[in-house]
Amino acid sequence: TTRIVLAERPHGAPTDQTFRTETAELPALADGQLLVRNRYISLDPYMRGRMSAAKSYATPTPVGDVLPAETVAEVVESRDPDFKPGQLVATHGGWQSAAVVPGKYSRPVSDNGQPESTALGVLGMPGFTAYSGMAEIGRIQAGETLVVAAAAGPVGSAVGQLARAAGARAVGIAGGPEKCAYLVDELGFDAAVDHRSESFAEELKAACPEGIDVYWENVGGKVLQAVLPLLNLYGRMPVCGMVAQYNATGAPEGPDRLPDFMRTVLNQSLTVRGFIQTEFRAKHWDNFQRDMAGLVADGRMKYREDIVDGLENAPSAFAGLLEGRNFGKLLIRV
Ligand code: NDP
Repeated sequence: TTRIVLAERPHGAPTDQTFRTETAELPALADGQLLVRNRYISLDPYMRGRMSAAKSYATPTPVGDVLPAETVAEVVESRDPDFKPGQLVATHGGWQSAAVVPGKYSRPVSDNGQPESTALGVLGMPGFTAYSGMAEIGRIQAGETLVVAAAAGPVGSAVGQLARAAGARAVGIAGGPEKCAYLVDELGFDAAVDHRSESFAEELKAACPEGIDVYWENVGGKVLQAVLPLLNLYGRMPVCGMVAQYNATGAPEGPDRLPDFMRTVLNQSLTVRGFIQTEFRAKHWDNFQRDMAGLVADGRMKYREDIVDGLENAPSAFAGLLEGRNFGKLLIRV
């Protein structure tokens, strides 16, 4: 297999030194394992956490190991009776061309009429994150206002469209005019605000004339600061990600804003709840598959993929993901 390993832990943004390409022999198959050929590799922001030794919900990837990733792959050889050669699976195939994986952490790619790559996006982990976090924490109601950043990405775009489907107002935040136009014109968001604009906070306020009931936290940083004064009584904040901080090497500059944040939580009786989507798998996965596939089929859930050809381009594509250079679900086509 050709594979990309973690060469050294990045300090700040990942660079060329972070990654090394190798060729390696795969081990012989043991009982319960599959030999698979990866077709699509999913690149996701959480991988930045795996590259770092800092404490997080995911165990760090050891230096020298292949980087982890969910992939859509074809089974080449199977020693698990549930899988047959030729079958397509979503599995943990990593940043490599082929892999040996346990059958029990693989699932067949469902035959739902959508491209196989959607098993890594709208009908896979990111879509599920949006669906389950909304069901459990966001609980958006008709007539309410939701704000989400990284709104052109797979999680944010699904969050906004779920809010629209529930009869709520959806306001998306994205970087640049092209992504903002896409949110309103293609995805049906009620408004979009560019976080790079100098008058970002005023524009966000103007887009939320009745305040914010659900702030879906994907990014942190100055977006969170602009949202805080707009939150309504009993507002909910599913804390899903902090992508603005993943490359940070120290505490942000400026005054300590935590007291201000806690005062808002108290005054507005907010619910702030972090989650990792795996927590909700057992309860919501089957409903998600049915509901989301239905929304995609009837056009209420649109998605966009940013497909980069060639495993060798994964390092630069991944660095771009943390800076907003991707436009849609970032995938490597092997
Ligand atoms: P995206 O494809 O949306 O990629 C990340 C996006 O973040 C970039 O494209 C960029 O978009 C935006 N961004 C980066 N830096 C900043 C910044 N400083 N300010 C504002 N926006 C910024 O990623 P996903 O949809 O896959 O993930 C979205 C979030 O959800 C991430 O935080 C991720 O970690 C989290 N997540 C959490 C899960 C969980 O279980 N809790 C599971 C899956 C994802 P733009 O150009 O618009 O700025």
